[in-house]
Amino acid sequence: KVLEIALLHERIRHKRDDFLHKLSNAITKRYDLVSVERLNLIEMSQTNPYYAKQISRFGWTRFVSFLKYKLEIQGKTLMVMDQWYPSSKTCSTCGEIHSELKLNNRVFECKQCELHLDRDHNAAININKEGLRQYKLAFQ
Ligand SMILES: [Zn+2]
Repeated sequence: KVLEIALLHERIRHKRDDFLHKLSNAITKRYDLVSVERLNLIEMSQTNPYYAKQISRFGWTRFVSFLKYKLEIQGKTLMVMDQWYPSSKTCSTCGEIHSELKLNNRVFECKQCELHLDRDHNAAININKEGLRQYKLAFQ
């Protein structure tokens, strides 16, 4: 029974790795600069155990490490944002910071410029912009 479970775990891990490799290959092929956010899963598991669990199941840390070495082999760059960067709370259009945004607000609504956008999409635009800005500061 124990061996069966171990084998099952091994198979799941293998499948997940396979998926993470495919995804990181596809991204590396397509982009020269990739920006990601550093996620503190330990801190997150205290405030949002559900999200922390989902992210760790997906294998975020492993995924980022795959992405990093694949990009670097090709002379490309991975930028990792600091944890304090307010990617979710910043309006990707006007830059206004909405510190009152809660994790269950899935839609970002800006009172300043009336942007209405999926929360994660808004955060992704910010991470992309910030990554590009930091890249330029560091390399140009
Ligand atoms: Zn705005």
